[in-house]
Amino acid sequence: MRYDIVIIGAGIAALHAALRLPKDKKVLIVCKSNSWDCNTFYAQGGVAVPADEDDIKTHIEDTLRAGAGLCDRKAVEVMCKDGYRVVREFIEMGFEFDKDENGNLLYTKEAAHSRNRILHAGGDATGRLIHLFLMKNNPFPLLYKSTVVDLLVEGDTCYGVTVFYDGEFRNIYAKNVIIASGGIGSLYEYHTNAKSISSDIQGICLEKGCELRDMEMLQFHPTVFIHNKGARKQLLTEALRGEGAYIVDETGERFLFRYDERGELSPRDIVSRAMFDWKMKTGREIYLSFDNFSEEFFRKRFPTIYYHLKDLGFNLPKDRVPISPAFHYAMGGIKTDLNGKVPGMRNLYAVGEAANTRVHGANRLASNSLLEGFVFSVRAVNDILNKDEDIKIKEFPVNREVLVKEGDKELKNRLRRLMWEHAGIIRKESGLKKALKELDEMFDKDIGKLLRLRLLTSKKIVQSAIDRKESLGAHYIVKE
Ligand SMILES: Cc1cc2nc3c(=O)[nH]c(=O)nc-3n(C[C@H](O)[C@H](O)[C@H](O)COP(=O)(O)OP(=O)(O)OC[C@H]3O[C@@H](n4cnc5c(N)ncnc54)[C@H](O)[C@@H]3O)c2cc1C
Repeated sequence: MRYDIVIIGAGIAALHAALRLPKDKKVLIVCKSNSWDCNTFYAQGGVAVPADEDDIKTHIEDTLRAGAGLCDRKAVEVMCKDGYRVVREFIEMGFEFDKDENGNLLYTKEAAHSRNRILHAGGDATGRLIHLFLMKNNPFPLLYKSTVVDLLVEGDTCYGVTVFYDGEFRNIYAKNVIIASGGIGSLYEYHTNAKSISSDIQGICLEKGCELRDMEMLQFHPTVFIHNKGARKQLLTEALRGEGAYIVDETGERFLFRYDERGELSPRDIVSRAMFDWKMKTGREIYLSFDNFSEEFFRKRFPTIYYHLKDLGFNLPKDRVPISPAFHYAMGGIKTDLNGKVPGMRNLYAVGEAANTRVHGANRLASNSLLEGFVFSVRAVNDILNKDEDIKIKEFPVNREVLVKEGDKELKNRLRRLMWEHAGIIRKESGLKKALKELDEMFDKDIGKLLRLRLLTSKKIVQSAIDRKESLGAHYIVKE
């Protein structure tokens, strides 16, 4: 199996790259599960995009401010400038964002944005509809239920991937490999991510000597309903707060204003920490209240959430919903340049949530990640198409290392608890060191490859958190 390009993943970064590749290229998309099992599918709020040319500058400034000094200004400029064009091109291809009765695009606002610039589709079904559109327009074969378990790297070249597919290991060779495998959600006990998002490729990158950067920078979403069954918890989008939903404790106090004058519209990390701290101090339950929404508005503007919560027995908009923060998004990832290229590699790219261009710095501005997926997928494609070197394929023996061993499931759950307790919203150096020791102990056991990859990524997160001694953005560390 030989291809011009193999793309790992089937979320926005992968499928938008595919959409932008010429149809005469031989391309294969490999995805671990069903195509919809990705974070893109679950994105609710929308896509942040400069509302007009004048807004490019303000979008850049808002992104830099949220990033708390860790952003690469150049990367942010690229995302906002290119994003202005790329999202409009996506609309020209036929994608429909929500519009008002006069046909004007409807822009909403989310936390830490200084103006309305979030485009949404189907109310709160933005990710699902974008994914559907990309799938419908995807011209290339997609190999489902195929886990990439290795990158075929020698020296400065990646010759392809090893996949586990239909009970067998196979090597798939390619002149270029684009990693678009998303973040790391499954490393945490409470998270909002799709099931397939478990940091395998980040672990493989570490084994191959590719750098993961800013891995301590992880975002915890404040408004998550965590009492549903299953690992993926129900996110209640930030846009609800943008439209006026508010956070109260069980006595009805809007305690967020004690922490920040912006209240519900403070950045996510501030809201998450305030909730964590308030609960510790008072022991009170915390809720999201929508009682200022009309039922019709709620149903039309946020249909997915409305019907989901109704199914769970809530009487909306009257009932308030208990919420907790949960892991949501990885700002850290595989270090790349502004074309998504992994440094030191001739033909290996990473885009979307898997990548780290420092576009989000220490904290992602809400709804900037779908934009990142749009923009950097195009840049990686253009880089591939514009280079004139030809990679001669080299064959590798197939690595058939056992993926899962007995006892891995229990250790996986232990890992998830450990990460939640010690590498979560508020970190202590002693807790992080304890976590690192336990991770090392797990690492020394007789475990399968997939768990080893998770442990490698987890260790990198914990070590990065230990190394960053001062709090910054989403990384909050307290001294004992
Ligand atoms: C509930 C929720 C709501 C969100 N809302 C918003 C929002 O409103 N706006 C916004 O901008 N962002 C939002 N985000 C974040 C945003 O959705 C993600 O950052 C973005 O979709 C990531 O896209 P991606 O293409 O990089 O990865 P994903 O869409 O996560 O896709 C990753 C793909 O890689 C595959 N994969 C993983 N590992 C392997 C492997 N080993 N082998 C083969 N395939 C593999 C997966 O199966 C999947 O197909 C939200 C996230 C969540 C979880």
